[in-house]
Amino acid sequence: MRIEHFIADQIRRAHTDTIEVRHAMVASTATDRKPLANPPAVSIYELFSREVHECAHAVAALEGGARNIVVTIGADARGSCCFDPIRKSIDHVVVCLVGVIAEVRLRPSALAVYAGGCFDFNSARLLLDMRRERNEWPHMGAEGAAQRATDFVSVHWERIVGLALVLGRSGGTLCDADVRHFAKVSP
Ligand SMILES: [Zn+2]
Repeated sequence: MRIEHFIADQIRRAHTDTIEVRHAMVASTATDRKPLANPPAVSIYELFSREVHECAHAVAALEGGARNIVVTIGADARGSCCFDPIRKSIDHVVVCLVGVIAEVRLRPSALAVYAGGCFDFNSARLLLDMRRERNEWPHMGAEGAAQRATDFVSVHWERIVGLALVLGRSGGTLCDADVRHFAKVSP
């Protein structure tokens, strides 16, 4: 299955079923899982693929005009990417989706991890539902959003991987100034 079809399918199956969850997801943007107290051992390759996941969120947030972008990764390969609200909701949808797409591009076996859904898909679905309710232009469904995010990862792949290499050497956190410095467009 092509990645954009997998992503579109996950968006359609995502859960946004309570008001409380809706508010929490909008407020916390594209944050992923919190670190565990006792981290499981993961391979260097899996760790790097998770760094690529978080840095894809960060590069998309940067392109979406977000401020206060902070990326983290733990030795257990659990990470987060937080940022202030993004003005255009379609850009925010792309931010939500690029993490899994980038991770799977580097480590295809990760697809199985996300087959049962994840927070990023729920957030994207919520944002798309809200766009539809507001009748926002351009109209964007699951397929269109998945394609847009897949294209973003292809176009910005070298920046995403480059930032991930920096994150891996950073001690686990890149602040907003780091992201802007290392993920800037190549001259
Ligand atoms: Zn994510």
